[in-house]
Amino acid sequence: MADKIEKDKVATVNYTGSYLDGQVFDSSEGKDPLSFLVGHRQMISGFEQELMGAKIGEKRKFTLTPDKAYGERDENAIQKMDKGQFPDDMNLEVGMIVGAQSDQGPIQFSIVAIDGEMVTVDFNHQMAGMTLSFQVEVVNVREATPEELLHGHAHGLGGYNH
Ligand code: ZN
Repeated sequence: MADKIEKDKVATVNYTGSYLDGQVFDSSEGKDPLSFLVGHRQMISGFEQELMGAKIGEKRKFTLTPDKAYGERDENAIQKMDKGQFPDDMNLEVGMIVGAQSDQGPIQFSIVAIDGEMVTVDFNHQMAGMTLSFQVEVVNVREATPEELLHGHAHGLGGYNH
């Protein structure tokens, strides 16, 4: 019985992700393949769903609408902040991605506009609202170790090394 991608397995894949216009936004080409623990929210939901049941060596191509990828854009997630809320030594620039800690864990936002002391920020994921296409080749599928299941992510090649 060949291993296939299912919950609690560790999948290792080569992948290329592109926008609808064909522009590639991320690829494992020329890098290590990506490993992830299936069913533990390591990947966007649609990516895992489309790969369920895939065997080693199998190639799949699929397109994910925003609801299966990074979600729809939320205009309420665009907010105005005062420059004083940022660290003094931070050199604010339009287009900058800023990481911060929140009560819900790490978050990131982008700076959309700076107008005097007023900074407009966007908490939407940079790929929110976008339809994304993926080409994926399954390189390996294996059982997860108890430690990986505990951590909720894959270890080793293409995964976390710690
Ligand atoms: Zn770990």
